[in-house]
Amino acid sequence: MHAHIRRRTGELEQGIIECRRDLHKYPETGWTEFRTASMTIKKLASLGYVIKMGEETNRPGDMRGVPHKDILASCRQRAVSQGGDPGLISVMADGLTGFTADMTFGGDGPKVGCRVDMDANDITEAGDASHRPFREGFSSVNRGVMHACGHDAHVAIGIGVAGVIASLKDRLKGSLRLIFQPAEEGVRGAKAMVGAGVTRGINFLLGSHISFQASRSGMLICGAKGFLASTKWDVAFTGESAHAGAAPQNGRNALLAACVASLNLHAISRHADGATRINVGRLSAGEGRNTIPAKALLAMETRGLTTELDGYMLQEAGRIVEAAAGMYGCSYDVDVVGGSISGESDAEMVDMVAEAAKGIPFYDEVIRMREFGGGEDFSYMLKDVQEQGGQGTYIQVGADRTAGHHNEKFDLDEAGLAPAVELLSRSIVSLLTRP
Ligand SMILES: [Zn+2]
Repeated sequence: MHAHIRRRTGELEQGIIECRRDLHKYPETGWTEFRTASMTIKKLASLGYVIKMGEETNRPGDMRGVPHKDILASCRQRAVSQGGDPGLISVMADGLTGFTADMTFGGDGPKVGCRVDMDANDITEAGDASHRPFREGFSSVNRGVMHACGHDAHVAIGIGVAGVIASLKDRLKGSLRLIFQPAEEGVRGAKAMVGAGVTRGINFLLGSHISFQASRSGMLICGAKGFLASTKWDVAFTGESAHAGAAPQNGRNALLAACVASLNLHAISRHADGATRINVGRLSAGEGRNTIPAKALLAMETRGLTTELDGYMLQEAGRIVEAAAGMYGCSYDVDVVGGSISGESDAEMVDMVAEAAKGIPFYDEVIRMREFGGGEDFSYMLKDVQEQGGQGTYIQVGADRTAGHHNEKFDLDEAGLAPAVELLSRSIVSLLTRP
């Protein structure tokens, strides 16, 4: 079986790299992955996978941080003009870009899930000759959007895994569900897919990220613990505008409310139980110099080592926002635009991945578990599977990179793609051939 996986992966490698480059050239941010999803769906359907999409795989009430309708419409149009399938894209309507691809095998066996995230970042890609994607003609043509986190590689790897597993169809038991998730950036997309039930009944769940802590080619990290729980809020303060010279007493100053809130949010007391973070990352307020500002928008996030610690930060944040609004006679509205929870890989799954890595020469440094120290909304899927008695792990597959993730000069060693396909395929096969 291992020899077959190696051979099939080798046959697919060139196509996987071309696919990654194509996705790199046409990146799409969270909830607008219309072209990415429609082209991937077509490939997987042609391999025999059964596709579920639309509201069946994205619960609208749990979709957070969805762009404005006008932006969605222009992104749909752009996707069609860049080769996306108009029929499939119309089903994705207002951001329902997450989908699943299922293959069922003969005989009783477990249900294995594998999650793949698809979105790009709000970054303008470097346009100079030192940056390979630019030099070789596959840098982003979508201005202000760039795959700077490697999710283009994730989709290409996912398609590769689908191809390898389909070629082993007659030798496996149980079923495989590939979960293609939108909007991982800003930790927005996973919750809506879990809400739609995509992780129901999954016994074993795999998630992976390229490079990141496995920062060089050859490195592999089989599991993660200590995903930081995080919550993203947009807080809108509303006051009353008035002439700043003639009748300032009639105004209610939303700018000042937002400023006072910002300063005091950063003064929330630390917690003895573990790490917490807070950041107000954007503040916009006011219109004219001589008008009392009636509107202010504050974009903030909290993080905590555990879901409870993040809850503590949120509770304090809520108190401060309310008090700051009250001080200036303003009202306020909180929009939860993203979030993730804490989580930890299961030891048995970590062992299984470490075992699968044996005999893949690319991986010369295999680490079992790492403290993740960041947010990843894969944690929602992991928790749902674990609560049903299943197990999961989050793998980091090594690849050299030219700059840090989310940098305009980010690029990857594509030699890391095929080994990732081989590793994930081996892991899935080991789960679907259990006696
Ligand atoms: Zn990422």
